[in-house]
Amino acid sequence: MSNAPTTNRRRISILGATGSIGCNTLDVMAHLGGREVFEVPAITGKGNIKRLVEQAKQTGAAFAVTADPDRYAELKSALAGTGIEAGAGPTALIEAGARDTDLLIAGIVGIAGLEPTLAAVAGGADIGLANKECLVSAGDLFTAAITRGGGKLLPVDSEHNAIFQVLEENQHHAVDRIILTASGGPFRDFTRARMAAVTPETAAAHPNYSMGLKISIDSASMFNKALEMIEARHLFGIRPDQIEVVIHPQSVIHSMVGYCDGSVLAQLGVPDMRHAIGYAISHPRRASLPVERLDFAKLARLDFFAPDEERFPALTLARIAMQRGGLQGAILNGAKEIALEAFIAGRIGFLVMADIVAAVMDRLDDGRVARSIDDVYATDRDARAVAASLLRKSA
Ligand code: NAD
Ligand code: MG
Repeated sequence: MSNAPTTNRRRISILGATGSIGCNTLDVMAHLGGREVFEVPAITGKGNIKRLVEQAKQTGAAFAVTADPDRYAELKSALAGTGIEAGAGPTALIEAGARDTDLLIAGIVGIAGLEPTLAAVAGGADIGLANKECLVSAGDLFTAAITRGGGKLLPVDSEHNAIFQVLEENQHHAVDRIILTASGGPFRDFTRARMAAVTPETAAAHPNYSMGLKISIDSASMFNKALEMIEARHLFGIRPDQIEVVIHPQSVIHSMVGYCDGSVLAQLGVPDMRHAIGYAISHPRRASLPVERLDFAKLARLDFFAPDEERFPALTLARIAMQRGGLQGAILNGAKEIALEAFIAGRIGFLVMADIVAAVMDRLDDGRVARSIDDVYATDRDARAVAASLLRKSA
């Protein structure tokens, strides 16, 4: 596939453009020069056709895709006369990923982001990876595909972006540990009894970042941090015992790397995803970003606590998944999705989510490994099916 640009504008495709990561990406691109500087080969969304159409027109995208096949006619008619091509459904999503681009921002939520992102990887594009499920579920396969494709993997998840920024070149062998910071979420100081009774609405209120519903609840349960531990293992090629998590309520230190000489390097900034997105877009240079500057005198203090794994068992589950290896990351994620949906629907309590995930991980602890992406999808389906059957039994 030819990767030669048709103009001298930088080409950036955005998967999940209508979501939180996608909107922040478009905001950063507008700030860095918009259509004068960037060309958009493809953007995708799902339910919010109005926003997708606005974004496609604003960026002059070549191809706009909704993941929902039933919304094709609506998208096509809204784009009539603009010259923007419309597409819908899973095949069109993969085509959006496969369209020639310099950088693809992977901002779809969930395992639905895997195949379209892999299509861009195969084409040799650099990948700004927000979709952590690519690494959690397909870990080794995904990193091997990146190596084959020849593009760079630029983490957009703020913690991993921070680590990427402070990892010294040629010093990977000197890394002792990686310290992921976690805000602790809205229930940081709740007792287990209080946590058992929380509602999806209160769980969705993240203290420092404004994000999509599911990722906000995953932050409150620390399942988000669990996914990030597994993500870090694959991104940075480190052992599970080298990954630490520390609660840091201010979310100013985005994460840290500890070296064998005792030095710890940290990346700091106000909690704003546009840091990480802007860094990925500008890499290897730094560009001026419209984010607030840290005022240390006002900040006055930074706090740190060890996470309580009795109240946040997701962290223990991540460690078990990494130790067992194979497809346990995909199982943890698939089961978590079903448990999360059940919690959002009011069918189970907040703490039951981890019980379900633990039970599914044990049930499917049969040494399975992924030889192909089909194995990842099959395991994702198995994990969801086992989780759903456990939920039915407990109803
Ligand atoms: P979001 O829910 O705000 O947006 C998700 C996007 O994916 C939307 O464009 C939506 O239309 C699309 N989408 C949803 N379901 C889809 C499907 N089945 N097929 C194709 N497209 C689908 O989510 P978000 O908060 O932007 O998060 C996106 C990803 O980035 C997640 O993997 C999340 O973990 C990760 N992430 C987000 C943040 C953040 O601050 N929002 C930070 C770090 C990492
Ligand atoms: Mg994160």
